[in-house]
Amino acid sequence: MSMTHIGAASKDIDVPVVCVTGGKGGTGKSTVAVNLAAYFAREGLKVLIVDCDVSAPNVAILMNTTLSEKREVTSFLPSFDEKACVRCGKCVSVCRAHAILQVGDKPPIFFASLCKSCEICKVVCPAGAIKEERKVVGWTYTGSAYGVDIVSGELKEGEPNSAVVVKATKDRAYEVLKDGNYDVMIVDTAPGTHCDVIRSIWGSDVAIAVTEPTPFGMHDLGLILELTRMLGVKTKVVINRSDILENGGAKVREICEKYDSEVIAEIPLDREILYSYVKGYPAVLRNVDTPGVRALVRLGETVRGLLNL
Ligand code: SF4
Ligand code: SF4
Repeated sequence: MSMTHIGAASKDIDVPVVCVTGGKGGTGKSTVAVNLAAYFAREGLKVLIVDCDVSAPNVAILMNTTLSEKREVTSFLPSFDEKACVRCGKCVSVCRAHAILQVGDKPPIFFASLCKSCEICKVVCPAGAIKEERKVVGWTYTGSAYGVDIVSGELKEGEPNSAVVVKATKDRAYEVLKDGNYDVMIVDTAPGTHCDVIRSIWGSDVAIAVTEPTPFGMHDLGLILELTRMLGVKTKVVINRSDILENGGAKVREICEKYDSEVIAEIPLDREILYSYVKGYPAVLRNVDTPGVRALVRLGETVRGLLNL
């Protein structure tokens, strides 16, 4: 297994990483991630699941547990010294977030809620009039349930800089991995193809793209497969609610072929999976034998094979 890089920092570990992602929300991405984690734990593997969907973290909810060891995530916040400022306007012109405004030769006005913490204003200021302060942008947590360890991130409401929290979440996961003798790490990403998702997928050995056979789902599947191809991450596809559209599977396969991917599981609509979702108890741990639960177990076996676990 190749060495894996986590977050933006080049920190190397030798634990296989699988990320569970999807072009759009509501496809059952987190349900798949949680069931994979529970399946691996059931098979005696030491598993860490990392919730990088920091705007709407739900792994702990799906595992019916409360997280603890809350840690603040902070980021740079400029503080302007009016007395030192020479009114040159350089900070205004470099701020791509439009968080700084200057009217005439007045000192700059700063809109903290728009600031992306890039620090460029501080770098260009010729008068040393911009100092560093820190603001809380989110939190990370740890916990465990059903034999699975959990690291989760949470973005503070109203904060625009979710990528900082995703990075902090992956850094914390790395810390936990370093101390823990783990067999595998599962990363649950946000839906979409934006910066947070790229950061979450980065460094994975295998990506699982969860989709549903609807026109919207298939359109977004193409986007996520395009993204993972650009990132060079081998990607397999899971069709959730596979029976909601006739011939939907065939169309998903056509898209997969275009991106040199393949469908590795089709999970039909299943009341038992829905019941498990509501109860916060992974379906693969329940003693039920239904098409949907069988498909989840087979998916676990397949991914185990892909990762040589
Ligand atoms: S840190 Fe970046 S985003 Fe924030 S005010 Fe400065 S230049 Fe703008
Ligand atoms: S770059 Fe510095 S000196 Fe220039 S306007 Fe901004 S704060 Fe003032």
